[in-house]
Amino acid sequence: MPKPRRPRAVRPPARAAALPRHGGLTVPWITGWFDGRPYFGVNFPVRRVQAITYRLCQFCRQPLGRRIGLVVRPADSTAGYVDEPGMHPECLDYAVAVCPMLNSTMDRYRAKPPAAVAGLLASTPARAGKPAEAYEAWFITPNGYEIAYGPDGTVLGIRLDVPVLMKKPVRAAARPRLTDEHAALLRAVLDLESSPEGPATP
Ligand SMILES: [Zn+2]
Repeated sequence: MPKPRRPRAVRPPARAAALPRHGGLTVPWITGWFDGRPYFGVNFPVRRVQAITYRLCQFCRQPLGRRIGLVVRPADSTAGYVDEPGMHPECLDYAVAVCPMLNSTMDRYRAKPPAAVAGLLASTPARAGKPAEAYEAWFITPNGYEIAYGPDGTVLGIRLDVPVLMKKPVRAAARPRLTDEHAALLRAVLDLESSPEGPATP
């Protein structure tokens, strides 16, 4: 189990100085707020599309530069695009350092946000509560920046079948935990094995 890092010790990039802070952490521009608190990992849908369309950093909202960082899961490479906008390399480094999902402190995606929040913000209910996947950081150039559109013209994300300058691992996938049913079965088997007389009879 990796040691949890202390987020306060990591300084946000200077370009993110104007962003609000919450609990000692800089809150990314794309992060959804509801009732006065940010929901890390839950994005404002409009900002997601704006960032992808206008080549803005999802973290600091400033235009992306010559190196564009993408956070990519295996499912994204299979789909051929990543639905999250790009980041400056230094914004990506900060996100990786402090985000519990990216720095392996968390092994599972958060449970679904409250219904009111999920209704307003883009969430990923399919991932909620599931074990964390492997993440990589990919770096592309402005020439390789292409938007993936759905058949109806919706912005799906940023295409991944483009020249990639560098890929580096961010975190490994978390092992799936036993379901309650499997755990009960396993306990029963171990009890049988550890008891010399076999299962207890009344
Ligand atoms: Zn940035």
